[in-house]
Amino acid sequence: MSRAFSYSFYHSKTWTRTRNEYAASKHGLCERCLSLGVVNTGEIVHHIKELTPENINDSSISLSWDNLELVCRKCHADLHRHTYAEMNSAKLTPIVREGFGFDLDGNLVDNGNSLDPHGNGCS
Ligand SMILES: [Zn+2]
Ligand SMILES: [Zn+2]
Repeated sequence: MSRAFSYSFYHSKTWTRTRNEYAASKHGLCERCLSLGVVNTGEIVHHIKELTPENINDSSISLSWDNLELVCRKCHADLHRHTYAEMNSAKLTPIVREGFGFDLDGNLVDNGNSLDPHGNGCS
């Protein structure tokens, strides 16, 4: 699994507490939906600047509220589709994440596996 580096982080008390406090500060609502006037439950705390093995121990990135965003599953999937689109346009090799795959035409698709093994965290 390509995200093995983040396993212990997402299971740490520090992250769990940060995630819970951040979500509570947003009243548990998806920030993206709310900005469109839609009230939706936020389910995932997303890192705006993606975590890497290099920055995961940098608390100014991995634990900073400035780098967090509370989103619902739909918005989270959209966020990561953007990531892929940017990677593809930059001719970088995308890393396939859990819940995503490619169809026969090479398009990124959500394969419906929405279970988050990292307990509502994401990279
Ligand atoms: Zn949303
Ligand atoms: Zn994310």
